Amino acid sequence: MSAQDSVIDLRSDTVTRPTPAMRQAMAHAEVGDDVWGDDPTVNRFEAVAAERLGHEAAVFCPTGTQANLVALLTHCGRGDEYIVGDDAHTYKWEGGGAAVLGGIQPQTVAFAENGLIPLDAVAKLIKPDDVHYARTRLLCLENTQHGRVQSLESMQRAREFVDGHGLSLHLDGARAANAAVALGVSLEDIGRCFHSVSLCLSKGLGAPVGSVLVGSHDFVREARRWRKVTGGGMRQAGVLAAAALLALDEGYKRLHEDHDNAAALAAMLEALPGFSIRAGWTQTNMIWLDLDDDVGEALATFAKEQGVLLAASAYGARVVLHRDVPASALPRVAEVVGRFFDA
Ligand SMILES: *Cc1c(COP(=O)(O)O)cnc(C)c1O
Repeated sequence: MSAQDSVIDLRSDTVTRPTPAMRQAMAHAEVGDDVWGDDPTVNRFEAVAAERLGHEAAVFCPTGTQANLVALLTHCGRGDEYIVGDDAHTYKWEGGGAAVLGGIQPQTVAFAENGLIPLDAVAKLIKPDDVHYARTRLLCLENTQHGRVQSLESMQRAREFVDGHGLSLHLDGARAANAAVALGVSLEDIGRCFHSVSLCLSKGLGAPVGSVLVGSHDFVREARRWRKVTGGGMRQAGVLAAAALLALDEGYKRLHEDHDNAAALAAMLEALPGFSIRAGWTQTNMIWLDLDDDVGEALATFAKEQGVLLAASAYGARVVLHRDVPASALPRVAEVVGRFFDA
C-alpha cells in the first residue's frame, strides 16, 4: 500500500486512477495512427460511444474542454453566439476558448436555483436577424450541473424550444452518465435530446484520460477537422480508448455506488453541528458544504493534515465521491470534518 492509498481524495472524481483491468486493456490494445483513421481500438470506442449516446458518430478527444470547444467551433462560426449558463463550465471554466479561438460570443443567462436554464429567459436573449447583432446559433446545457440533475422532460422541452427557434442544442455532459444513473434512464435517452453531447470518460467513469463528442455523421466530420486544428489529433490513442471502453462499460455499471456513498456521507455530515449541507444538492456524487470562504479553506487545510482532501472555493466546499473512495472510508471523513467543527 502506497502513501497515496491512505489519503482519501474527495476533491474531484477526476482523481480516479485506472483499474488493473484498464491497465491490462491498455497494455494489450491494438493500435494504429488515429489521425489516419487506422486505430482499431479508437474506432471501436467511437462506434460504441455513438451508439450508447444515440448518435450516428463520435470523435474521441483528449479532454472535456476540447470536446466542448470543438462542439462550439462546429456549431458556430466567427460572429455567431451561443447561449449558456452564467456559471457553466464551457463559459466560465474553459478559459473562454470559444471566444478566444472561435470568435464566438457567449450570451450568458442565469441558472435557475436547480441548475436549469430557464427557457423564457433564453427566448428574450435570442437576437433578431439584424446587422447590429451577433447571430444566435446554439443553446448549451449542462447536466449534471454542480452535481444536480436536470430531468429528461426539461431536456426534451429544451429540444422542442430550440427546434422552434432554429437553434442547435449542445449538452456539456461531462457527467451525463451520473445524470442518466440518477434519473434511471439510458445515456441514449439523454443523448437523443441534443444535436451534440460531450461526455467525460475521465471523471466518475474512471478512465485516466479522454472525453467523447457525439453527433451526426456530418457534424462529427466537421468536428474532427476542428479537433485537428486545436491540436487534438492523437496518434496511437488506442491505449487510451481501451480504458475508455471499460469506463463506458464497467465504470458506468458501478456509478450508482458513488451516488449511494454521497447520500450516506451526506447523512453522516448532516448529523454534525456547526455547518450545513447545501439542501437538495446531493443528487449524484457531490456534496456541497455551505461555508464562508475562510472557513472552507481552514477546513480543507485541517482535513489535509488528517489525510482527507476536499476542494474549498468561493462557491463552498465540495466533496466528490468516486470509485477510489470505498464506503468503508466514509466514517473517517465524517470524523475528520466533525473534529474540525468541534475544535
Ligand atoms: C470536467 C468538466 C468538463 C471538462 O473538463 P476537462 O478537465 O477538460 O476534461 C466540462 N464540463 C464540466 C461540467 C465538467 O465538470
